[in-house]
Amino acid sequence: MHFVTISILVCCSLGLSWANEWGYPDLDNNKDAPFPDWGGLCDSGKRQSPINLAAKWSLRGKFDALKFQKYRYVQKNLEMVNNGHSIQIDDFDDVLVMEGGGLAHEYELEQIHLHWWSEHTINSVRYPLEVHIVHRNKLYPNMTIATNFKDGIVVLGVLFHVSNTPNDGIASLIQELEELEGLHTYAGSLTTPSCAEAVIWIVFTETLPVTLEQVEQFKEIEYSNGKQLHNNFRNLQSINNRAVVLVELDDNRSGAAAGRTASLGLILILGLAAQKFVL
Ligand SMILES: [Zn+2]
Repeated sequence: MHFVTISILVCCSLGLSWANEWGYPDLDNNKDAPFPDWGGLCDSGKRQSPINLAAKWSLRGKFDALKFQKYRYVQKNLEMVNNGHSIQIDDFDDVLVMEGGGLAHEYELEQIHLHWWSEHTINSVRYPLEVHIVHRNKLYPNMTIATNFKDGIVVLGVLFHVSNTPNDGIASLIQELEELEGLHTYAGSLTTPSCAEAVIWIVFTETLPVTLEQVEQFKEIEYSNGKQLHNNFRNLQSINNRAVVLVELDDNRSGAAAGRTASLGLILILGLAAQKFVL
């Protein structure tokens, strides 16, 4: 197994003002701070994300396993970027394509970003971290067009629990995706403006380990000069009678469990706040 080390230096000051003029309440400083209105579909939509994923209320489903093409390839030139509201990776050497798992189309990996404190809750439990692995339907040429269609985007959500086991890389996380078992799926939205209702969500029920020290490093990340982004999760949205399906994946993967390594994880090595903005 090969791992990629992403060596972006810590940036102490990004020197830019609040990205796109939308943001999150700083819950570290005020636990009761109201969540702001982001406008448009974010306020008026009926299929918004995130939601609480409650096993008790989910329909049971059984799908073929998700198939991941080239996700095990070593990505040599990954770059993490601080975009003012998250840390994002979007430069992959290969075209990574996902299919199966009940999806009607092939989806291409666009970018990966993180939320500290999870956006989805599972059985009303909020986890310290959620990684979003964002895919575009290959029928559509770019994300802007894809956001106009219900099946335009698939986001895989991976949640993390606190553990003594550190994690060592997003590269290894995407290499191990096919070994995760069990997931919730539902029709929802982007969790940042424009909140387009174009997302098929797939949130794994299995959570991965991260240490408390690694989580704390995210709170050091700055969105503006001297201002730290203590949390970047959107508040829970109404389900509004949407079906949430709790899926068991057909295990046609030989030796999947045996191939499990301690490498599941994501890059939380110090230095997450990259120096470059991409807005
Ligand atoms: Zn996200």
